[in-house]
Amino acid sequence: MSSTPTVAIVGSGPIGSAYARVILESSPDARVVMFEAGPQLTAVPGESVRNIADPDEKARAREMSQGPQSGAFRESLGIPAGVVVEGMFTARQGTHLLDFGGPGSAHAPTFPAAAAATNVGGQGAHWTCAIPRPAFSEKVDFIDDAEWEDLISTAEGLLHAQHAAFADSPIGTAIRSLLNDEFGAELPAGYGVSTLPVAGDPQSDGSMVWAGANTVLGPLIEEGTPESARFELRDLTLVRRVEHEDGVATGVTIEDLRTKEVSFFPADVVVVAADAFRSPQLLWASGIRPRALGRYLTEHHVVITTVALDEERMSALITDDEFAAELARRAQNAADPVAAVNRIPFSEPDHPYSLQVMYAENPPFQLDPSHPAAGNRWGYVNMGYGVRKHPRVEDGVTFDDAELDYRGFPNMTIEYALTDAEQPELDEATARVRRAGAALGTFVAEPRLLPNGSSLHYMGTLRMGPADDGTSVADPYSRVWGYDNLVVGGNALIPTANTMNPTLMSVAIAVRGARKLVEQLAAARVEQVAR
Ligand code: FAD
Repeated sequence: MSSTPTVAIVGSGPIGSAYARVILESSPDARVVMFEAGPQLTAVPGESVRNIADPDEKARAREMSQGPQSGAFRESLGIPAGVVVEGMFTARQGTHLLDFGGPGSAHAPTFPAAAAATNVGGQGAHWTCAIPRPAFSEKVDFIDDAEWEDLISTAEGLLHAQHAAFADSPIGTAIRSLLNDEFGAELPAGYGVSTLPVAGDPQSDGSMVWAGANTVLGPLIEEGTPESARFELRDLTLVRRVEHEDGVATGVTIEDLRTKEVSFFPADVVVVAADAFRSPQLLWASGIRPRALGRYLTEHHVVITTVALDEERMSALITDDEFAAELARRAQNAADPVAAVNRIPFSEPDHPYSLQVMYAENPPFQLDPSHPAAGNRWGYVNMGYGVRKHPRVEDGVTFDDAELDYRGFPNMTIEYALTDAEQPELDEATARVRRAGAALGTFVAEPRLLPNGSSLHYMGTLRMGPADDGTSVADPYSRVWGYDNLVVGGNALIPTANTMNPTLMSVAIAVRGARKLVEQLAAARVEQVAR
């Protein structure tokens, strides 16, 4: 180890950022260099694009994140045109489909909505910021409860968790009251209808500054802090390989996408946090190919609908003055008029679902003006029941050395199927979404199951496990089996079947991995001094 231990981090999303933060705050002599394939979108690196007020600026930032599908930005880099998918509901703004159909596209006919973001901050620059805690069997059973509690609380601190966001919104309160009338008696104590925890900082005008990777990086990107002097973020720098010798990672081969220059960057520790498809792809391309690599792919499936809130029920619960005050508050922040985020969390044995209920002034699609619910003065809710997918070795991504993708990596094929294990819960979730909708108002969109891949929460492809038995890629501290100084991070580590938004859980797992690395760096230093 060099006298200044160097940590190379691949990917600048919330997980790479959590590694950087914990390592630099706890290892006083370490240096961290973070490599990000995409461009920096905002003056503050990794900020949520939802915080950009100007609609043109926001649209530009989203387009710049779309890798092979980002029109003008793509052309400026000399990358040949692919298929532009902006506006298709399967590629949410700021993301790009993996199976985009153009030259070098992945193959994912059974997982067609799989998407990624390529920019500083990763998907964390575009996310909804919902951060519920995993519960019951969603948690990792080989981490004990006391440690888990500490990891999750630390992760909530890094993400600036708000447990009662918009709790004083009268519309949000009315929605909770109606859902509670319908479901309250069936739900266990502590897992009833509640506000959805989110990541961000509430402002005095009632709006939110949404969290991004910048929130997690904190002092690392503040001028003049001791941590910022030891932190470097290189955007538009693609990591092509993790280099290694005899079970030891030695650094990364990088390509500067501006100059096309390829070079070797030596490192004492390598952390790969490049999302649930591109991290396993990078390991594969580097010749690191554990049996479980890319296997056991899960997501949570979503049954969604949109409902117009009922005039009679809402006016019985909200006075005209309260409603007028809420509208006035929202009008101050027209760029992001979020008013209420509610949920029913996962609980076992009887409610293995998580319902997310997002209030919206307008439906997410054009509603025919002749529809009786068009222009509903109380607004609408978009809601979705998350349904778990049970991990199977058959589901996953494979890589083909003989066919390169648009970046020159072994191309991906994703194979995935829902089975009889999921069907009863999908049926039950559909029945529940009908009950929830009927309790709140009139359906303006029929409940429907979104195409595979739509959740954007892809898990399992780098799963962690308690033993090196071929069913996991990483050990309980996120180290790739057989490599003490090669760590993987992200939703791909999650080995359980779950229904919640996974980023909080993945940050908690990253905190554990980072703390172990800090211990290893300290031990190596002691050994070096002794020599
Ligand atoms: P990412 O954020 O995906 O970052 C990975 C980064 O690695 C990318 O920037 C990528 O460009 C970079 N990279 C890839 N390959 C390379 C390479 N070879 N070299 C260099 N860099 C590379 N999650 C929740 O928990 N709650 C939500 O409400 C929620 N809502 C979402 C809404 C949207 C629209 C989207 C897009 C996502 C949402 N998510 C949500 C998911 C959440 O954003 C991710 O869980 C989170 O960003 C994962 O963090 P990460 O750091 O592991 O990966």
